Amino acid sequence: MNKLKILHMYSDMLDLYGDSGNMEILKYRCKMRGIECEIGKYSINSAMPDFTSFDLIYLGGGADLEQQHIAEDLHKCRQGIAKAYKRGVFLFLICGGYQLFGKYYKDADGNKMDGLGLFDYYTVAEPDRRKRCIGNIIVRTEFTGKTVDIVGFENHGGQTKNVKNPLGSVICGHGNCTKSTHEGYFEKNVIATYMHGPCLAKNPEISDYIISYCLSTKAGENIKLTPLDDSLEKKCRQVMVDRLTNK
Ligand code: GLN
Repeated sequence: MNKLKILHMYSDMLDLYGDSGNMEILKYRCKMRGIECEIGKYSINSAMPDFTSFDLIYLGGGADLEQQHIAEDLHKCRQGIAKAYKRGVFLFLICGGYQLFGKYYKDADGNKMDGLGLFDYYTVAEPDRRKRCIGNIIVRTEFTGKTVDIVGFENHGGQTKNVKNPLGSVICGHGNCTKSTHEGYFEKNVIATYMHGPCLAKNPEISDYIISYCLSTKAGENIKLTPLDDSLEKKCRQVMVDRLTNK
């Protein structure tokens, strides 16, 4: 029961700005608590896994070209992923991965890639490649039950619209589209965000929300995690928050 089973999809294609580091952080935070963490990989032409057998499915971000390469293969997994999501498997999606779980992503050249359509949002990139949302970002979130300002780095041309339930509100940076008030997408078993960084290294609360959700779902009861010393991570984050808010 005390084990986290993760499926890291397209780790060879979707890995911008340290996105794979998110897996290292989950492994580390599990290890510190004596929780076993197993990470399986899936990429183009891998055998079709049983998506419901995992606690967490993870996709990082990628450039338009990588997204084009994986879009068709991802569709082959649609049924399995949709079933897993409905059963409560956690979906953690960064940037390019985030976009491909919505209705569609139309890139800067006008190529339209069908998304999995699990969620109602859709993304269209600015045709002018220089018009991108780039930089460090602060997002105010409430999903952990407390108000937490999380930080990350965004770099996307895609403008994501029709997001019914965002992850948080933008304090500094762009978010779902240029100068948006909101960032990401959230459901109790979905965190989708434009934040690279890697996001989990900078924001321990997100890691612990995910680990705790996965273990609690499996156990059928609320699992409380042993707290870890996150003082260094929080100090680093505060430096970034102060810098971005000119304190
Ligand atoms: N290619 C997508 C865009 O530019 C996603 C980029 C990313 O994952 N950082 O919007």
